Amino acid sequence: MIDEERRPEGKIERALTVFLTGAECPFTCSFCDLWRWTIDRPTPPGALTRQLESVLQTLAGPAPDRLKLYNASNFFDQRAVPSEDLPAIASLTASFAAVTVESHANTIGPKTVAFARQISGRLEVAVGLETIHPVAAAQLNKRLEFARFDLATRFLSENGIDLRVFVLLGVPYVPADESVAWTVRSVEYAVERGASVVSIIPVRGGNGEMERLETLGHFAQPALSQLEDALDRCLQFASTVVTADLWDVERLSACEHCRAGRIARLRRLNVTGIAEPRIDCTICGGA
Ligand code: SF4
Ligand SMILES: [Zn+2]
Repeated sequence: MIDEERRPEGKIERALTVFLTGAECPFTCSFCDLWRWTIDRPTPPGALTRQLESVLQTLAGPAPDRLKLYNASNFFDQRAVPSEDLPAIASLTASFAAVTVESHANTIGPKTVAFARQISGRLEVAVGLETIHPVAAAQLNKRLEFARFDLATRFLSENGIDLRVFVLLGVPYVPADESVAWTVRSVEYAVERGASVVSIIPVRGGNGEMERLETLGHFAQPALSQLEDALDRCLQFASTVVTADLWDVERLSACEHCRAGRIARLRRLNVTGIAEPRIDCTICGGA
């Protein structure tokens, strides 16, 4: 997938995201469905290198600026990315000015710095903060202490590695009428810890656990208007690029008359970061 992304200094980058298949993540966050794209044994050595090679061979035209390697797990977990593959992966990234990988805060450490030194571009690590709501965070089963998150962000900054953060909208156990406010607070928390980019991800049903929590009244899938509210309020954070994750956005409930226009507006905001009036709709009143 290739898309355009804004960086904090205003540059618009072309970013190539490569979805790699390897070992399942050992954390079992309640909202996560990424296990659907993983295998139930350690990633065989050489597998990721071959996958990446095959994607890069299909690239035509000018090379994108950034390569995002998303393996539906933690890049610095030996089971997910065998250490012996790191030099070959690093050399495959040579034509990119920047590389993004994803990792739980707990698996950020010396291996991260070693990989940053192996690649010729600048490393960015994407970390899930999800929410700072204390009760909801404890229920996510993510096993993430905020102190550990803070430590990881300091470690990245001290080693010249950029930080991207994932924050959720519609977290189970957060009351629906407080949902947007907690998302904005969580984004602010990431901004204060030096995140270059924060992506707001609406929690999606579909993994079974979310449906169970919905039946119990602990989860309601967020509406498109809540995603708009959250992003509009986060445009105030000038030092950080805040975007709305629009993967599967069609699943969010919205007025059918203006849904397409609202999604198009969010796509523009993601790239420009410049506030725009909400879509005016004669059917729903733009609510
Ligand atoms: S740490 Fe990330 S990949 Fe692993 S279960 Fe949690 S959300 Fe999913
Ligand atoms: Zn409408």
